[in-house]
Amino acid sequence: MKTRRAVLVSLPLECDARYIWRLMALTNLTYRGYIVTVPDVLRCIQHQLLMWREFKQSLVFGATPKKWFTKVWVPLKTYRIFPDERRIGSPSAPVVLDFVHNVIRVRQVCRNQSRYSIEIPLPRWVLERVAEGGDVKFAMAGVRRDKPYLVLVAEREAQPIQPSDYALVVDVNSWKHGVAWALVKGDRVVKWARERPDLGYVEKTYSELVKIEQKYGVLKRLGLHKTPEGRKLWKKARHTRRKLYAYLRDFAQKLASRLAKKAARHRARVVIDDVLDESRHKLLEEKISSGLAKIYLFGIKRFVKLFETQLRWYGVPYEFKRLYSTICPKCNAKMKELPGRIMKCEKCNFNTHRDFVPVVWYLTNHKSQPFGAGGTSNKKSTYLHKRINSGP
Ligand SMILES: [Zn+2]
Repeated sequence: MKTRRAVLVSLPLECDARYIWRLMALTNLTYRGYIVTVPDVLRCIQHQLLMWREFKQSLVFGATPKKWFTKVWVPLKTYRIFPDERRIGSPSAPVVLDFVHNVIRVRQVCRNQSRYSIEIPLPRWVLERVAEGGDVKFAMAGVRRDKPYLVLVAEREAQPIQPSDYALVVDVNSWKHGVAWALVKGDRVVKWARERPDLGYVEKTYSELVKIEQKYGVLKRLGLHKTPEGRKLWKKARHTRRKLYAYLRDFAQKLASRLAKKAARHRARVVIDDVLDESRHKLLEEKISSGLAKIYLFGIKRFVKLFETQLRWYGVPYEFKRLYSTICPKCNAKMKELPGRIMKCEKCNFNTHRDFVPVVWYLTNHKSQPFGAGGTSNKKSTYLHKRINSGP
């Protein structure tokens, strides 16, 4: 099974973003089946576009553009130079990954100028993926928020791992309650933890943002938002928002990578519960403002996606399963929440921490529902619903 992972690398500012923008537009036309020949664009770049017509379905990023004038990244082939004198790819490829000098040379892409080339350091990410048996066969160039970027796509033929008797149970909530995971060996919980971003920082930055936006709102109502002071506030709000989102994005990325590596190391099967409606509901119940709730849910879906991508990369088997945190795993009765996030079943007296209930669900059910038997989470949840409705 071919698996792919990608990383975004920023290109230096001497790179002509407007030129890349234009190449993106030409790529868009290529994807639509037009044969693009532009007299003033270098032949080698035109050749890339022409050649990629055959690969247009196989791209990781932005498979087929859905709308006209959408942003399509420019696909580029790579040439890999290894320290052991191995050379892979075409020497005329626009992107050269030089593992001898640890640099990436981007040729002709950054400026419509013959022999124009720039060098950027080779990210550690590439070295790690190559060490894991991956190969960066292609790259993509594009513009995001007016800045030029290069996307490197690593590809690997993943062999499914032979699972051990370990399982990694992952319960995904909002950032407020975090991602709870448990490493289980047979019927025994080896380790259990809850991962959360620094909530103090998140809340502080969010309230800063709200204050700035309120000030801006006042100016706007007075029609003064276009004044230097108004513009300054607007910029400050944008900066604060981006800072907050970047922090959460980074946290999600690191957590996904850490958990995927943990699963691979233990050759564990992974069971994920990612029902976010419940998390959203919970946040509203706690009377958290919709703005802050949005922040707490920001990047959660992306976390699950990243986690999945990385599990596939390492060949770790995984499945989505509904693991409840408010229904008693022992007798299926509705549980009551006590202070300190303790859940208690009034029928059978079973009680434990709310974040631990999904783990107990896994432990009580994994034998009667073997791994992979239920397929998708939807099927699983209907199965469990039936059980719940018909009683224990
Ligand atoms: Zn019970």
